[in-house]
Amino acid sequence: MGAHSIWVLEYSRSPVHPVSGVYYGAHNQGTMNLPFAYILIKTGGSVVLVDVGHDSGDFGGQIANSIGVTGWTSPDIVLGECGVRAQDVTHIILTHAHFDHIGGLKFFPNAKIYIQKKELESWMWILSKGRRFRSLQAGLNPADILYLTQANIEGRLELVEGERENLLPGIHLYPAFDTHTAGSQYVVVQNDEGDDKIVLSGDVVYTYKNLNGGDSNDPCFVPPGLANGSQARLIESAEEMLGIVGNDERRIIPMHEERLSTLYPSRVTDRELMLVEVCLADGERSRV
Ligand SMILES: [Zn+2]
Repeated sequence: MGAHSIWVLEYSRSPVHPVSGVYYGAHNQGTMNLPFAYILIKTGGSVVLVDVGHDSGDFGGQIANSIGVTGWTSPDIVLGECGVRAQDVTHIILTHAHFDHIGGLKFFPNAKIYIQKKELESWMWILSKGRRFRSLQAGLNPADILYLTQANIEGRLELVEGERENLLPGIHLYPAFDTHTAGSQYVVVQNDEGDDKIVLSGDVVYTYKNLNGGDSNDPCFVPPGLANGSQARLIESAEEMLGIVGNDERRIIPMHEERLSTLYPSRVTDRELMLVEVCLADGERSRV
């Protein structure tokens, strides 16, 4: 028990996601089910979201359709399962700017947004380079980058440069540069003062198989297939995360991991979305 409650909230899924996008070098292995989710943290008087999903009604929705994403459900319904309204969200931490992690920003008008400065700068650079560079734009809705610049003018954006400890008490941000994207970051949630840490990996780790290759007796890092950075940096960052949690893989929470529901208390909502309860703060009521 401690100060933070954490829930992983599925809001959509791709039943036909290419396996090679999730595991580097997994050629000709067909498709897999990939949940799309964001993470809710309640801590003190603050309501934090790590990533925000996408908006089915804009270009992000078109990207989603083009890769077989189904079952999109609005944030008010998804968060309502935990008794939270979109307008209650006070802080949004963005692990990176792919459409399915950032595209829902407009649903949270009262939240302050935190993203690595390098992430914004790298996408601006890619967008400045023109059509021949469009392979680097995979998974990006350019309008989301414009939204960030607008939020900056409104004073709702904070560009983080590298490590940021205690953004809120016990919530730390760490860079994972040149991995899945140029300016990816991950989140460490620390209960009390001790070693009770949970890592929210973003897409540096899609599933546990990225950490162990599917064999926990003879584990092997297999980095995600979709990456603008390098496989070596993905593996280095995964190793760093394992170090933070004392090699206890289940304390790393990959948001595209279907198996989370078997490791933590969970339930399926009326919309057939998975709700996973990673931990509860003292006095917080279970939502599963
Ligand atoms: Zn991504």
